[in-house]
Amino acid sequence: MARTALVTGGSRGIGAAISKALKAEGYQVAATYAGNTEKANAFSEETGIKTYKWNVADYDESKAGIEQVEADLGPIDIIVANAGITRDAPFHKMKPEQWKEVIDTNLTGVFNTVHPVWPGMRERGFGRIVVISSINGQKGQFAQVNYAATKAGDLGIIKSLAQEGASKGITANAVCPGYIATEMVMAVPEKVREAIIGQIPTGRLGEPEEIARCVSFLVSDDAQFINGSTISANGGQFFV
Ligand code: NDP
Repeated sequence: MARTALVTGGSRGIGAAISKALKAEGYQVAATYAGNTEKANAFSEETGIKTYKWNVADYDESKAGIEQVEADLGPIDIIVANAGITRDAPFHKMKPEQWKEVIDTNLTGVFNTVHPVWPGMRERGFGRIVVISSINGQKGQFAQVNYAATKAGDLGIIKSLAQEGASKGITANAVCPGYIATEMVMAVPEKVREAIIGQIPTGRLGEPEEIARCVSFLVSDDAQFINGSTISANGGQFFV
């Protein structure tokens, strides 16, 4: 039977490309979203991928949502923790709410997604966790103290899960995208975006499908020995 993959924030942007790539490889896919139902319905209609609405920042909602996915599609074998937000401001102007919202979604959201599924993965002796971190978690970024903290935290999560899951057939890895052409990046003022592109040696933004291909590899049987690793896909903008 086909393995089941859960992609949080899987209804648009990078997540949508990941959902589609995994479906094309024969996995059963559940894609979640936060509130943009119109977009999620259009995505579901276009792809035939079932979508689920819950807030990854809320543990009880996540747990209930995951139970529903497992009732519909069977046990979750693969988690792609992709849902994420930005609430940018220079540190001296950053409000505590901006800090909290980003931490709750991007960092606690990963805990809330993986934790309810983890016992089942351990029991079944198989699991693939991929967290979508960011180049800005590796190098920091002006006006993104909150976001960079969460994305660096994601790397701590996967390195620790890798050690705990290894003996149970579970791997945990991260992808750190550079700047990718999604609504998140297109929302940045054009002048700033042009400046960003000027810093990318490849001379262009990445495409969501380029991140999806990294994920497809990390969840495949070919990647069984890759655990606690990070793939940086950033057009040569930053080397770890
Ligand atoms: P988008 O803003 O295009 O899409 C975000 C997705 O996450 C949407 O499906 C959204 O749902 C969902 N989402 C947001 N908040 C929540 C929440 N609280 N609960 C559940 N779902 C939520 O983002 P991108 O595709 O650009 O980014 C995807 C991931 O990649 C993020 O983690 C981001 O930090 C990371 N990343 C992106 C880069 C880029 O250049 N774009 C670069 C590096 C990393 P809804 O549609 O309902 O709002």
